[in-house]
Amino acid sequence: MRYRTLGRTGLAVSVIGFGASPLGNEFGEADPSAGERAVHAAIASGINFFDVAPYYGRTLAEERLGQALEGKRSQVILATKCGRYDIDQFDFSASRVFRSTEESLRRLKSDYVDLLHVHDVEFGDVTQIVNETLPALEEIRRQGKARFIGITGYSLGVLARIASAAPVSTILSYCRSNLLVGDLDTRLRPFAAEHGIGLINASPLHMGIWTPQGPPSWHPAAPEVLAAARTAVNFLQSSSIPPARFALRYCLDSSPVATTLVGMATEDQVKENLAALDHPNNPEMLKHIQQILAPVRNRIWPSGRIENRDNGLH
Ligand code: NAD
Repeated sequence: MRYRTLGRTGLAVSVIGFGASPLGNEFGEADPSAGERAVHAAIASGINFFDVAPYYGRTLAEERLGQALEGKRSQVILATKCGRYDIDQFDFSASRVFRSTEESLRRLKSDYVDLLHVHDVEFGDVTQIVNETLPALEEIRRQGKARFIGITGYSLGVLARIASAAPVSTILSYCRSNLLVGDLDTRLRPFAAEHGIGLINASPLHMGIWTPQGPPSWHPAAPEVLAAARTAVNFLQSSSIPPARFALRYCLDSSPVATTLVGMATEDQVKENLAALDHPNNPEMLKHIQQILAPVRNRIWPSGRIENRDNGLH
């Protein structure tokens, strides 16, 4: 495993991180004991960064991750979130954030998390997040319950706007740096580098698109994006190249973020994704896949409040 320092936190995170949302059944029913074995296999092979949220499986992912980390907490860098609790249930108030963090710590069976993120900030009021939510997280940090604080979301502009107005150590964004979309690297990475903010790239498989089983039914990508990606996945498979491995390898090569968070629920997925570290480059295949995807490359979807969306998407 390789490690990189996450911004100015001093935390050395594995370049592949473990996304725990699949443990909460976000991508279909996950077997709890298989999930626990996946967590243990990940730790044994050097993955030290784990990301979860109360939203994933409406607390189920935190419960399961907390269980799997029993006795192993000191070996990992643990991130959770606050502010989002269901598809359309957000509460960024200070009182909810304090309560939410206590609940998360109980589920995670830990006295502290390494990173505490405000979850999906584009769904909130920027003024409230800057003046109320992040100061509450700062208070939680002062109490020793979080070592560092940050923000997450899909819309890149609002992440930069908030991080310009309030101090954060880390920013997590998703589905903005992989084979289908690459604007994290142009729109947010320079900002993060300039401000010493640790950048986390999540969903390298574009939330399940770059897998044999394909995306979940709730996937927000446009039908033509899903169709082009399916053609690309079929082509990779017909060439005996596992699509997840190829897609993850692309992220590791193309984006020098500190860590890439991939969602995993089984030991096989952990093994498969670790294989991406040593997967040989295949420039010819990459060129072909990029040709298939060219008509739909960089197509994003609207997320959050209208005023917080990228490119004025409505
Ligand atoms: P992803 O792109 O990592 O895809 C996950 C899906 O791919 C799951 O169904 C998983 O089981 C499957 N998968 C993983 N490896 C596979 C393999 N080798 N073969 C076949 N299938 C495989 O999407 P994600 O899980 O949404 O993103 C990763 C993590 O990033 C999340 O779990 C979460 O922790 C974090 N995240 C955070 C936010 C946020 O804060 N707003 C948003 C998205 C993701």
